[in-house]
Amino acid sequence: MALSDFPRYRLLFGPSPIHPLQRLSDHLGGARVWAKREDCNSGLAFGGNKTRKLEYLVPDVLANESTHLVSIGGVQSNHTRQVAAVAAKLGLRARLVQESWVDWPDAVNDRVGNIQLSRIMGAQVQLTDAEFGIGFKQSWQNALEEIRAEGGTPYAIPAGASDHPLGGLGFANWAHEVAEQERELGVFFDTIVVCSVTGSTHAGMIAGFAEQQRPRRVLGIDASAKIDSTRGQVAKIARDTAEKIGLGRELREEEITVLEGWAGEHYGIPVESTLEAIRLTGRLEGVILDPVYEGKSMAGLIDLVTSGEIGPDSNVLYAHLGGQPALNAYSALFRD
Ligand code: PLP
Repeated sequence: MALSDFPRYRLLFGPSPIHPLQRLSDHLGGARVWAKREDCNSGLAFGGNKTRKLEYLVPDVLANESTHLVSIGGVQSNHTRQVAAVAAKLGLRARLVQESWVDWPDAVNDRVGNIQLSRIMGAQVQLTDAEFGIGFKQSWQNALEEIRAEGGTPYAIPAGASDHPLGGLGFANWAHEVAEQERELGVFFDTIVVCSVTGSTHAGMIAGFAEQQRPRRVLGIDASAKIDSTRGQVAKIARDTAEKIGLGRELREEEITVLEGWAGEHYGIPVESTLEAIRLTGRLEGVILDPVYEGKSMAGLIDLVTSGEIGPDSNVLYAHLGGQPALNAYSALFRD
């Protein structure tokens, strides 16, 4: 099987835009930095990386004649907001389990940003006490059982649409999209920098790029502060996806690189380097990053470029995966 054999339901505008971050590159004084913008990839509730992944799950949803999309995430999950948008688009119900993954004191945390958007789109939102974790959750299983008991047909989408047989395909396709855009732009991105938490974004990219002739580095920046589980999940999904799309060889260890050092101690809590990266990118480029994911991966990119770990001759592509709606739940930040 090849990637093109898997059905895809279009949710994106088309290829997401790629553009140079000129002033940021000049400021860092090393590699040229570009961004590929999943934060404006779709007209569905501000889009993001999950919308791209869901393009490959929707045909399965429709084939199963599902009545409900059921998913799980933190209170400010971008993923569940994108599931709510896709359910609305398909005329289905969304049932979202929102767990208290982040101990963040903002008074409006469960009323603004992503969760507000999900409610606007008609999702049934259930707030649950639980710690951060990307594995199997009982609360999610209960939601599935309840829908079945009511006579519905639930479609189960795990956290981040990652631990799902089709979860890696969207970003394998991203890799092909990049190659196409490189031909148009006349640039080769030798290094990709991407935020990694539930894993299938980074994993899909690894599998997709492995199909291409010219090797490049695909660097994941952990934002979960649980590096071992992120590495394990990325490796597993990358290998599964590679097999699915018919890579025809085993992925090598060095093709799977998840770096730690920018997540701080907790998922969802920004550290000083996160805030600096958000300010710098905002002030030099007018590009907005969030404090949970993209601020952390950009902090990684900044350090890797300034230290020369990503060399001065590199063209580095920063995958901007979305996430800005969560900023509303972090109103205590950036007050000066
Ligand atoms: N960036 C944003 C904005 C996200 O919402 C997520 C979701 O978890 C990620 C990065 C990480 O992607 P993944 O969960 O596929 O590793």
